[in-house]
Amino acid sequence: MKSAYFEKFGIANLEVKDLEEPKPDKDHILIRVEYATVNPIDYFTIEGRRKVHPLPHIPGVEIFGSVAEGEDKGKKVVVYPRLFCGSCYLCVSGKEMLCSGELFGVSSNGGFSELALVPKKNVFFIEESTSEEVASSLGVGALTAYHAMKSVEPGENVAIFGATGHTGMFLIQFAKMRSCHVFAITRKKSRWLKDFGADEILSPEEAYEEAKRQMHDSNRSPWLTNFSPFIPISIKRRKIYNFWYPDR
Ligand SMILES: [Zn+2]
Repeated sequence: MKSAYFEKFGIANLEVKDLEEPKPDKDHILIRVEYATVNPIDYFTIEGRRKVHPLPHIPGVEIFGSVAEGEDKGKKVVVYPRLFCGSCYLCVSGKEMLCSGELFGVSSNGGFSELALVPKKNVFFIEESTSEEVASSLGVGALTAYHAMKSVEPGENVAIFGATGHTGMFLIQFAKMRSCHVFAITRKKSRWLKDFGADEILSPEEAYEEAKRQMHDSNRSPWLTNFSPFIPISIKRRKIYNFWYPDR
């Protein structure tokens, strides 16, 4: 099978090679990868900024594909990338995303490959009608947004930084499903964010002014953020949901 693969850390060391196909055991399913997205975590993996296993390594955390063999062959699946035990307190209380710090594609070989070996409990069947673009963005982009949005009360105001990104587009839609008022924060003149449900599109500078304006307004509690340069001004009066930070 063709795979993107590195033996030493560093993006320059990533190459495409023919590797031996993995063999599934009773706890794993072999997936034929159809789409694999590229996320910051993949870059951190390739650069060696995470604890990576095994080495040499196939990266790729977020994939969509189909079952490669067996009675479910051909069925569409996505991979939930958090490698969870399924039996600890966190797992049985629905917080399996906090079970371990390990991820498919980081703590195991991933999906930048024609075939990927995935634990059975991490494989989820999806509707045949689901588009490839959406299916391939569920494991990281959609779930990151979904978990972040669980903390938001219906009807709250939320500010979404990086609104044009993978996660940001899901955040806008989930926020609207919770009847939130959405400030989409972006440096780009991206009017199309309105199509996803953004109520207001602000530059970071405009957001800063809005944050100052709302400092004394007790009815306002925005700031759902995946990167907040505004924490010093907003932290006194608002809930901060910071689910990601830039590695720089
Ligand atoms: Zn667990």
